[in-house]
Amino acid sequence: MSKDTALSTAVIEQRMGAFHLSGMKKTLQMRLKQASGTDMAYSEFLGLLLEDEVNQRAENKHKRLYHGARLPFEKGLEDFDFTFQPSINKKEIMQLSTGEFMQTKTNILFVGQPGTGKTHLAVALGLIALGLSKTVLFTTMWDMITTLQQSRADFSYQKKMQLYLKPDLLILDELGYRSMGDKTLEDFFEIVSKRYEKGSIIITSNRSISEWDSVFVDKTLTTAVVDRLMHHCTVIDIKGESYRFKNRT
Ligand code: ADP
Ligand code: MG
Repeated sequence: MSKDTALSTAVIEQRMGAFHLSGMKKTLQMRLKQASGTDMAYSEFLGLLLEDEVNQRAENKHKRLYHGARLPFEKGLEDFDFTFQPSINKKEIMQLSTGEFMQTKTNILFVGQPGTGKTHLAVALGLIALGLSKTVLFTTMWDMITTLQQSRADFSYQKKMQLYLKPDLLILDELGYRSMGDKTLEDFFEIVSKRYEKGSIIITSNRSISEWDSVFVDKTLTTAVVDRLMHHCTVIDIKGESYRFKNRT
């Protein structure tokens, strides 16, 4: 291309913006400076710019995934003190940390008293899933149920349902702190049966499955929920002290 038909850097940047090549646009000036006065091959220059675009897109995706997961905090397995909770089989948690459970659509249920690390472990597995580029959604059971209940009023039920059906991994925190009536159990049943063998659910609860009858009112529906949930499920029963009391004297 002759000099007078060449686009100015500003126009190139503008065009890059128009084509959503923000990664290239961001580094163009720097790459031009880097290449000027050297004998860098055109293909190398173009390759570097393309790499910048690829990296930027990967970073954007990573940010989107993390943001969309709505994790309440970021603590991993490396932050978990297994010696404090000897009832937990560390090997079993390490097996879960491979993420294979999501391939087999296996659910995970953490049962234990408050402060025993249920949410921490659920979040840690959520972070692993994100690292594997899976979509994750963390919500408390109560938030999900109230969101679905309210959505009936403004006819956004189906749309809201998708929020909980779409992610590769759904984390439902705190089942059992509040008892739930018929309608809410129906919503929970809908989620569990639609995700059955399609996408894993991690549930944390202060109640063991045998006590779920007292959380939900309808016994028949409770059995149907438990049946689907437990068909492919790893149960981690934590029998131990609250970590919150660890340093208390
Ligand atoms: P639960 O959900 O069972 O009520 P959390 O997971 O919220 O308990 O744990 C309470 C607090 O203690 C959190 O800040 C968590 O990171 C921390 N915690 C719990 N168990 C452990 C542990 N074994 N090692 C390190 N931190 C822990
Ligand atoms: Mg918790």
